[in-house]
Amino acid sequence: MSEASATDVDVLIVGAGITGIYQLHRAREEGFSARLLEAGAGVGGCWYWNRYPGCRFDSESYTYGYLFSEELFDEWEWSEHFAGQPETERYLNHVVDKFDLRRDMRFGTRVTGATFDEADGTWTVTTDDGASTRCRFLIAATGVLSVPYTPDIEGRDSFRGVQHHTGLWPEEPVDFRGKRVAIVGTSSSGVQVLPTILPDVASVTVYQRTANWCTPLNNRPITDDEQAQLRAGFEALRETLNTSRSGFAHPVNEKMAFDDSPEARQEFYAELWNSPGFMKLTYNYQDMLFNETANREWCDFIAGKIRELVHDPVTAEKLIPTDHGFGGKRPPFVIGYFEAFNDPKVSLVDLRDTPMVRVTEAGIETSAEHGGGLREFDIIVWATGFDFGTGALNCMGIRGRDGVALEGHWADGPSTYAGLQTRGFPNFFFPGGPHAAAGNNPRYNGDQVDFLTDVLVQARARGCEVVEVTEAAEERWTRMVDKGAEVTTFGTVGQYVGSNIPGKASRYLLNSGGREMLFKVFADSRANDFAEFGLTPSG
Ligand SMILES: Cc1cc2nc3c(=O)[nH]c(=O)nc-3n(C[C@H](O)[C@H](O)[C@H](O)COP(=O)(O)OP(=O)(O)OC[C@H]3O[C@@H](n4cnc5c(N)ncnc54)[C@H](O)[C@@H]3O)c2cc1C
Repeated sequence: MSEASATDVDVLIVGAGITGIYQLHRAREEGFSARLLEAGAGVGGCWYWNRYPGCRFDSESYTYGYLFSEELFDEWEWSEHFAGQPETERYLNHVVDKFDLRRDMRFGTRVTGATFDEADGTWTVTTDDGASTRCRFLIAATGVLSVPYTPDIEGRDSFRGVQHHTGLWPEEPVDFRGKRVAIVGTSSSGVQVLPTILPDVASVTVYQRTANWCTPLNNRPITDDEQAQLRAGFEALRETLNTSRSGFAHPVNEKMAFDDSPEARQEFYAELWNSPGFMKLTYNYQDMLFNETANREWCDFIAGKIRELVHDPVTAEKLIPTDHGFGGKRPPFVIGYFEAFNDPKVSLVDLRDTPMVRVTEAGIETSAEHGGGLREFDIIVWATGFDFGTGALNCMGIRGRDGVALEGHWADGPSTYAGLQTRGFPNFFFPGGPHAAAGNNPRYNGDQVDFLTDVLVQARARGCEVVEVTEAAEERWTRMVDKGAEVTTFGTVGQYVGSNIPGKASRYLLNSGGREMLFKVFADSRANDFAEFGLTPSG
């Protein structure tokens, strides 16, 4: 880079989650000077903030961890197929120390503004401690689920008990013993909290707005034999994970639902029910997500299981989703969730029957019909989700060419190229943000980091001080995402289309082409000499 554009660092990364940590490692490996800023007090991103009771992986532990170092893979022993949050936080700290990354990380530092300087192609990034840093490349690894959302209910601050959002859980343990607890929300986090706190509490009331298609996680400890097999099979596992569509190591099912007889389908659904975590999505029939009848039949099977597991028929019916099919929202995986409703200490309030009216000093009041009213609590757990995809990027104060605000540029939802960059914001990238893919998160976020690092290496080699995606490339990608999102027949709801946040633009926020589409555009771009980024051709 030229003398005139001297910067504090070449690459400034925001976010110390699994994506940002890897990006820092890759940037340093390629000889860039780099620094990472993180709002939280420690390493881990989502695994730092979400320390609520019961928080654990829905991805198999060893498929979630990094694959770039066999030594790291060998020396770290996950205790369970789906590890709990404390273990994942320990793992990420171990990685940071092993690769000596901590010296380039600053914690307790929130980015509040970033302005692009057109004259020399640099970014000036300001933080809540009043400091500013000048960098060539700004990489926001700020996550899709890092801005917790709590509904704006009247009186929320007046509550005299303890209240926490699952995504901002305190480091000191919350004492649930003998307490009357409310859990608001029944998505992935709320369903993990309920069975975990149940043995301790006096009572729990679960406030449900929409039921979700929960199925068993089927977790268990990793045996010594399995540990040995994992080590021996590292290369094969890495190959599978680096190429699989979903980023999981699950087998692929080539069948369409109606290739099988009705009896065979029921047997297959029973096999899926007993399979680990996301296999119920990744190993399901090929057309389960696209054929409404196939989707309905699998949902009916799950509904039957819920009716078997939950003794009270009225409660069972309330726990069966009616507004979306399996996969229309991120399906939660559970350990003893449905069974918890058989405990007399647990009750369910359906917010469609009795909407929440206000929070009072003493508890939560719902509308009076259908037996609603005030219930008193000692603790309220807000398991009410996140401002998915664009939340963190839109509140960072990003200002691109001509001072354009990112949140204004994306007022109707994001447009991107490969979920990595948007035109008008040169030298600014966001791996792991909106439009990335769907599946086992670190795998496709890692693909983005590897590709992006190649782009930066090429820019440096060719003396390009400004890297900016072309309009055509961004339009192609964004059109692909929007069109693909129309294909499913049973409707996508919730955070993937922003409908959980009042006033948020309704736009598909994942990459409907999936990881395969990322592979394709990255290969094409490499073959095109990175023309999508306007790099001058290599000699
Ligand atoms: C409870 C929970 C369980 C999950 N389980 C799984 C799972 O099993 N499998 C899976 O694939 N995915 C799972 N996910 C999705 C999860 O988001 C990803 O797996 C992963 O955390 C993404 O990593 P990341 O580094 O991209 O983002 P994050 O881990 O979210 O890290 C982003 C970091 O950026 C920081 N940041 C944001 N804005 C700023 C700012 N302005 N200034 C400074 N710092 C900032 C945040 O503080 C945060 O630490 C889960 C998510 C949650 C919430």
